Amino acid sequence: MPVTPEQQAEIDALRSAPRSTLRAVSEGMEKHLYSIYPVLDHGFVRVVDYMGDDAAICQAARVSYGKGTKSVQNDEGLIRYLMRHWHSTPFEMCEIKLHVKLPVFVARQWIRHRTANVNEYSARYSILDREFYIPAPEQLAAQSVINNQGRGQALTGDEAARVLEILKSDSGRAYDNYEAMISQDGQEGLARELARMNLPANIYTQWYWKVDLHNLFHFLRLRADSHAQYEIRVYAEEICKLVADWVPFAYKAFEDYRMGGETLSAAALDCVRRMLKGEDVTQENSGMSAREWRELQEVLG
Ligand SMILES: Cc1cc2nc3c(=O)[nH]c(=O)nc-3n(C[C@H](O)[C@H](O)[C@H](O)COP(=O)(O)OP(=O)(O)OC[C@H]3O[C@@H](n4cnc5c(N)ncnc54)[C@H](O)[C@@H]3O)c2cc1C
Repeated sequence: MPVTPEQQAEIDALRSAPRSTLRAVSEGMEKHLYSIYPVLDHGFVRVVDYMGDDAAICQAARVSYGKGTKSVQNDEGLIRYLMRHWHSTPFEMCEIKLHVKLPVFVARQWIRHRTANVNEYSARYSILDREFYIPAPEQLAAQSVINNQGRGQALTGDEAARVLEILKSDSGRAYDNYEAMISQDGQEGLARELARMNLPANIYTQWYWKVDLHNLFHFLRLRADSHAQYEIRVYAEEICKLVADWVPFAYKAFEDYRMGGETLSAAALDCVRRMLKGEDVTQENSGMSAREWRELQEVLG
């Protein structure tokens, strides 16, 4: 169960007591506020709070030019201009606070994004739950032969069954030993801060994660990308859906210029210009390495 009865009661109480406010409200985000969105087998994402909307981005941008409020059409155009020209600080005027439940090995990748504020569940103070990420069969894949940092085809037959059994039994045994070590039944009981070191990295942790929209886009650009590990990508994809409803103009510009766009080196751009003029450009006369050339081919489809 991704959410405890206490957490569900807290969510229900928060959703049952709406308050009026003079602050900017995003209708799209209000419907998501506090709700749980399950991810993986025991994880979730939920919005605890947010600040700002598309208009807040424009409001901040216009202070640069000393101009007042403009029409909604102009807001979208301005946001697209800001995104296109990397004028990023207006996007920092929006913030989001998420409650995330995730496996520890996913948390290790996530925490590398240093421009957020984090408060994590304390396994020194509290006892961790018996909840481990066990991949669905289609995610139980072999090492990729073309990418050292990736996975290939799903394992099948006896091998898949054996791996699944190892993951489940090791997790269960580690947790049994964790409980046995911290137990104060007829013994002193090992400190929680020490007993946790024996737990595997697929155990779940939880944190509050607060980040501004500019840095969130950076996170999503890297982690909702097809090259990101599946287990963090599914969280990023869930967050993308929330952001699309929260700041629709900004998200659309992000999809267009960042997720769907590409950055070309000067050499790559030169190749494209030569191709457009009808020149037969090859890797040999491109001035690019074989790998750069291959990546350019992928970008150009
Ligand atoms: C597909 C993929 C594979 C990866 N593989 C590895 C790996 O093998 N090993 C590994 O260690 N990491 C790996 N990473 C993590 C990666 O190197 C980054 O640490 C991570 O993506 C966070 O990016 P960031 O530093 O830009 O983000 P943030 O920490 O959120 O920083 C955002 C931006 O703020 C600025 N910034 C923040 N802090 C500083 C600082 N102290 N000094 C200067 N500028 C700063 C930078 O401009 C930075 O881009 C991988 C990431 C991805 C997406």
